[in-house]
Amino acid sequence: MNLFTFRGGVHPPENKLQTENLATEVFSASKMLYVPMLQHIGAPLEPTVKIGEKVLKGQKIGDSEAFVSSPVHSPVSGTVKKIEVMPFPLSGKVTTVVIENDEQEEWAELTKLENWEAASNEEILAMIREKGIVGIGGACFPTHIKLNPPKDVKIDTLLLNGAECEPYLNSDNRLMLEEPHKIIEGIKIIMKVLGVEKAHIGIEDNKPEAIASMKKACEGTKIEVAMLKTQYPQGGEKQLIKAVLDRDVPSGGLPSAVGVVVQNTGTAAAIYEGLLEGTPIIEKIVTVSGLAVGKPMNLKVRIGTMFNEILDYANTNRDQIEKLVMGGPMMGMAQPIEQVPVVKGTSGLLALTKDETNPYKPKSCIVCGKCIKACPMNLLPNMYAKLARFKRWEEMGEFHLMDCIECGSCSYICPANRPLTEAIKIGKAKLRTLKK
Ligand code: SF4
Ligand code: SF4
Repeated sequence: MNLFTFRGGVHPPENKLQTENLATEVFSASKMLYVPMLQHIGAPLEPTVKIGEKVLKGQKIGDSEAFVSSPVHSPVSGTVKKIEVMPFPLSGKVTTVVIENDEQEEWAELTKLENWEAASNEEILAMIREKGIVGIGGACFPTHIKLNPPKDVKIDTLLLNGAECEPYLNSDNRLMLEEPHKIIEGIKIIMKVLGVEKAHIGIEDNKPEAIASMKKACEGTKIEVAMLKTQYPQGGEKQLIKAVLDRDVPSGGLPSAVGVVVQNTGTAAAIYEGLLEGTPIIEKIVTVSGLAVGKPMNLKVRIGTMFNEILDYANTNRDQIEKLVMGGPMMGMAQPIEQVPVVKGTSGLLALTKDETNPYKPKSCIVCGKCIKACPMNLLPNMYAKLARFKRWEEMGEFHLMDCIECGSCSYICPANRPLTEAIKIGKAKLRTLKK
């Protein structure tokens, strides 16, 4: 059978087996929850509650008037104990609302939009914002903005990312198996907003049960499942568009330039829950894995749960941890400490041992060209690394550096262990500063 795919990429050890057949377990809410005021791409939020105030589960506790922003909500009922600047997993520190759980699980009054078919796009988008829905595949861009492209941009296709191409992770996989109807209903809402007739869900062929589950759920709809070759980074927006639709997003362009909007399957389910059940994003499915984890699992946890509590619950051997990562091993964020909370973009928590990490011992480039062949964006990673060494940032930009999606394929494949992605990230940061 012909499988959809793109040019380039790599195939690292999948390491999905440890958790792929484990049903999602619910982690009881902790005594203290730490909710950061920045869980999306955009402006930080201001707390809308005060210390000592009683809050209800699902109540909005942070918001902003900035255009690119998305509110956050209390994951439990309880009392606001502290509001202070604390470390969070997206690097650095941010204002955090600390809530003591009263264990009453008392919900705030939940507004719904059950009759969404009769609602206007403005009403639907306003509700998506109100429920704090962002791209929960990792990027966390506010969904109400992504679903509202400029009027002169014609969108004809919706593409759902169910690839979950990062090794170890199974949170999207479990969602597609356990709650496919939520994804499908969410997709229908997105299709109405975008005014498109056609949607595709891209899923890698290493998830045959999820493919079967979604195919069944798609019956009688205008939504189709596209089986993708298991190849990293198949879930990259531009790679997914090339694989499923054979369209090339131009350099520097967005998917909308070729008439496409891409959403994660988890985001579609969040839209269903937000509009039809009235619940904002207050919990997340997190795959907990890695060889230092005694009991790997897929866990539904409240936003604001500290990583150390999850690692304790999963019987993690701290002495074996070489690297703690939020997300997957390719694009995830290394965590220097365990005392940081789950945020909307937390899809995995990996406690990796020395055997699972690639100790950093770079050697000289042997000009083998493997990094160029692996680059899914047709870029020149080895040249970027050389230019970065001599701080020639502008030249890096001239060679389309900003098209790099930071997938890490070049570093992964390099036989000389060159820190290519690291040099690229530094170059991109420098270029952004130069452009200001
Ligand atoms: S893969 Fe590594 S060794 Fe080969 S050309 Fe690229 S940087 Fe050089
Ligand atoms: S240059 Fe960027 S896009 Fe290309 S392989 Fe390296 S990290 Fe990925």
